[in-house]
Amino acid sequence: MKCALLAMLLAAFGNAAVAAADEGLSFKGQWRQGAMLLGHAPQGTKIVFDGHDLALTPYGSFVIGLDRDEKSPATLQVTLPGQAQKTLSYAVAPGKWKVQRINGLPKSEVNPPQAVMARIHRESQEIRDVRAKSSDLIGFTQHFIWPVRGRISSVFGSQRILNGEPKQPHYGVDVAVPTGTPVKAAADGVVSLVAQNLYFTGGTLMIDHGHGVQSVYCHLSRIEVKDGEAVKQGQTVALSGQSGRATGPNLHWGVSWFDNHVDAMALTGSMPRN
Ligand SMILES: [Zn+2]
Repeated sequence: MKCALLAMLLAAFGNAAVAAADEGLSFKGQWRQGAMLLGHAPQGTKIVFDGHDLALTPYGSFVIGLDRDEKSPATLQVTLPGQAQKTLSYAVAPGKWKVQRINGLPKSEVNPPQAVMARIHRESQEIRDVRAKSSDLIGFTQHFIWPVRGRISSVFGSQRILNGEPKQPHYGVDVAVPTGTPVKAAADGVVSLVAQNLYFTGGTLMIDHGHGVQSVYCHLSRIEVKDGEAVKQGQTVALSGQSGRATGPNLHWGVSWFDNHVDAMALTGSMPRN
C-alpha cells in the first residue's frame, strides 16, 4: 500500500518536485524550455545553475530562466547552510516551437549586407553586455503585465528557415499595435539600455528587473525614460513604432535571464481582452 501511495505521489508531482521538497527548495513554474521559475530556499543556501551563482532576495526568493534550447536535465549545485553540496537534476520538457519555411527570397533578404556586419556585431555585443549584469532589484518577483494590448502577430520560439538557412529563432512576442501606442513597463525595474536606432530592433529599450532578468522593447518610435532611471510596473516608458527591421508597426517584447531567452507570454498569461 505504501508503495502504491508513493507511486501516486510521484505521478502527481514528478520525481524532481519530491526531491526538491526534500532539499528545502521549492519552485513555482514548470521545468520546460523557455520557462522562468521562481524558487525559494532557506537563507544562506548557495545555488549554482548554468555557471551563475544565484542570489537570494531577503525573502529567500531566486529565479531561473530556462533557454528556448535548454538541454535536459537542468542541473543545480545546491549547498544548504551547514550541509554538503548536492546536485539536483530536473528533466526539462521540450518546447513546441513553430517552424516557418520561406523559399525563393532574394539573397539580400536572407542575410544583411556585408557593410553592416560590423555594426550588427557591435550592437549585439552591447545587448549581451547588458544581459550579463545582475542586480539586487526584485521586480522579477512580480506577476508581469502586457506592455501593450493587441493582436499577437508572432510568438516566442518560432524558427524561420529562409531559403533553407535556419535563422535566429524569434525570442520575443510581437504585438501588432499602431505606431505611437504607449508601451508600459512589464514589471518594476531600472532602465538598462536606451538605443535610438539598432539595425534589427530600431528604437530599443531594456529594463533590468533584478537577478539577471531583463525585458526588452523593440521597434519603438520614441523612448520616454533615461538610462539608469527607476520605473514602476505599468508606467509608460516608450511609444511603439516600426523602426529597425520590422514588417509592420508592432511591439517586439522579450524577457531574458542572463543570456537565456524565456517566453514573455508565459509570465503574463494570455492577452486580456480590451
Ligand atoms: Zn519580434
